[in-house]
Amino acid sequence: MDLYCPQCSSPVADPLRVYCCPSCSGPLACRLEPASFPKEHLALRPPTPWRYAEALPEWAGELSLGEVLSPLVPFDVDGHSVLLKCDQAQPTGSYKDRGSALLVRFLQQRGVREAVEDSSGNAGASIAAYAARAGIHLKVFCPASASPAKLAQITRYGAELVRVEGPRPKATEALLNHIAQSDAVYASHLWNPLFVYGIQTLAFELVEQLNWQAPEVVFCPVGAGSILLGLYEGFSRMHAAGAIDKLPQLVAVQAKRVAPLYAAWLQEAQDVMPFPNPQTTRAEGIALPKPVRGRALLTALRASGGDVIAVEEAAIEQGLEALGRGGLCTEPTSAVVWQGIRTYCKKHPVGPDKKLVAILSGHGLKGLT
Ligand SMILES: [Zn+2]
Repeated sequence: MDLYCPQCSSPVADPLRVYCCPSCSGPLACRLEPASFPKEHLALRPPTPWRYAEALPEWAGELSLGEVLSPLVPFDVDGHSVLLKCDQAQPTGSYKDRGSALLVRFLQQRGVREAVEDSSGNAGASIAAYAARAGIHLKVFCPASASPAKLAQITRYGAELVRVEGPRPKATEALLNHIAQSDAVYASHLWNPLFVYGIQTLAFELVEQLNWQAPEVVFCPVGAGSILLGLYEGFSRMHAAGAIDKLPQLVAVQAKRVAPLYAAWLQEAQDVMPFPNPQTTRAEGIALPKPVRGRALLTALRASGGDVIAVEEAAIEQGLEALGRGGLCTEPTSAVVWQGIRTYCKKHPVGPDKKLVAILSGHGLKGLT
């Protein structure tokens, strides 16, 4: 797997020893081959995200805990029919397993035995599960305020949990101090591009589930933005391969209390600045004051003709209730999409034939109180 810096084109000689570009400190990318999507063959393959073999590394799926093609469940939001992509059905209860399975296998192939990660909970739990499977000892730095169920899940997989007081960036700070004094490998879902590569499978799956049609609009919760970037990269590769004839609009939904991408979008900025004075939000999984890949997120939103919506805490609660009464127990981070859909449909004309999809990223059992 060839990693490089898309900002300054520097190659990366040893991806285990650096997590960002040694020259400009920017996030790295994978150099990908053109993909193809042979429909007839695909239909005969096992129902897992790794069936898209012509678009993935040849070793994809070698490290697996039973990832699934997650269901699309119809749901009504203010009279608009939306298909909910229920990715809480993945093995650890979160979409992150798509990225973790690739990232951890990449490390395992290179003989890594010890790794570290920082997370608001879901990514830590997901990487911990795959690290356990791969025989890698993992240390996870988490905010002490993360959902107790997520922290318990991390330790259940045998990972070492480091609780860090303060907001989410303090966990990253503690991790960076740790790796400066040790030779632990940083298994970062934020920095390592293999993680976003795995999330591309969400796009491949959606198109196949919609009978090889692209949806018109996809709503996703955005903190670091790996869902949005994975969808954008996945749809773009399908478009380049001729598998779809247009890119879906991607709509990022953030919690208003921590909304750096929303602020950058309103200002028509080229990069995302740290969000001033972030407040505690129930959508803990997207409470990130500065995404690592801010420039790439803005590029993806503009290229897809997308939008960014920020939602109030009361609307997150309403979304949780509305989804719950429809039989879906999702985490508050995912519930932001409910208000995102309502706001979008007020701003933009939406006909009955428009295919709207929203990503439910994590299971509600992880944060029930
Ligand atoms: Zn660079």
